Amino acid sequence: MEKLQRYTILIVDDAKMNLMTLYRILSQDYAVLAAKNGLDALSQAEKYAPDLILLDIMMPDIDGFEVLVRLKESPNTQNIPVIIITGLDNVDGEIKGFSLGAVDYITKPFQSDIVRARVKTQIKIISQMQTIEKLSLMDPLTGIANRRCFDDRMAMEWKRAIRDQAPISFLMMDIDKFKTYNDTYGHPQGDVLLKMAAQVFTAAARRPADLAARLGGEEFGVLLPYANLENALAVAEKIRSGVENMRTPTADESVITTATISIGVVSAVPRETDLIKEFISEADACLYNAKNTGRNRIFSRAARCCGAAG
Ligand code: GH3
Ligand code: MG
Ligand code: MG
Repeated sequence: MEKLQRYTILIVDDAKMNLMTLYRILSQDYAVLAAKNGLDALSQAEKYAPDLILLDIMMPDIDGFEVLVRLKESPNTQNIPVIIITGLDNVDGEIKGFSLGAVDYITKPFQSDIVRARVKTQIKIISQMQTIEKLSLMDPLTGIANRRCFDDRMAMEWKRAIRDQAPISFLMMDIDKFKTYNDTYGHPQGDVLLKMAAQVFTAAARRPADLAARLGGEEFGVLLPYANLENALAVAEKIRSGVENMRTPTADESVITTATISIGVVSAVPRETDLIKEFISEADACLYNAKNTGRNRIFSRAARCCGAAG
């Protein structure tokens, strides 16, 4: 097991008792910073750039939601994943937290194993992001994750979705008429287009656990944990229109090329017995439909193989 000590976690709670409990649970594995109110949390986040923040929602003065909003406003802190801490049965609070960009939630009273497991999941995501470049997890042409990285992350997020009974979505994407593009402008120009399209995917997959990957040739995928069909369709539309609006210059600068992409979208709340490969093949079927009905479009469905996502 890799060493986790090099990761720093900022815990934020107005109750000293809670801070002490969290410290006891986490300090063996991580470096832990503590803040007892919202302002303190914001200033420590700016100053120490922790890898992860555990943030209590119910606090006097600036509450956790407000802290979350301010963290997302600052370029120094906006990419730090935040797990919110809520009371039991505060579903509205959890939903609001997710909509403000939180990556997960923990409920009080704390159960050590759950706190450890949820923190570890986020740290694993971070460490995988950091090692993408070092290991062979990156596609050398486009600079985004490759198939191997995607398969690994998909397996992990699938388990997490089953555990939390949370939605997970997947976009399967393929550049339209790319063979013709290559034939017309040349293979090197095709490569330029793939690189630019990869930037569009990365920009659209914005949450820390989102993953855009090159699955092979001119086929790409975007994994969207905790996204339901509606959320996934919004990301898909950003990508579809983003690619449509790309203007790619060729070596002969007078020629500016355009391209389109077709996207299959599936969403599910998977159960223990559901299979990733069926989920992916449903996305493939949707992509096939998008191609057959005219390309440059999105075709979606709640995955049939799995529990339907809201
Ligand atoms: P469709 O709209 O049905 O997807 O048509 P298409 O022409 O895009 O589909 P097809 O799968 O027949 O063509 C894929 C092309 O992608 C063929 C292959 O030469 C090209 N391709 C695959 N990998 C690369 C690459 O790394 N660089 C370049 N330039 N082209 C690639
Ligand atoms: Mg194609
Ligand atoms: Mg293809």
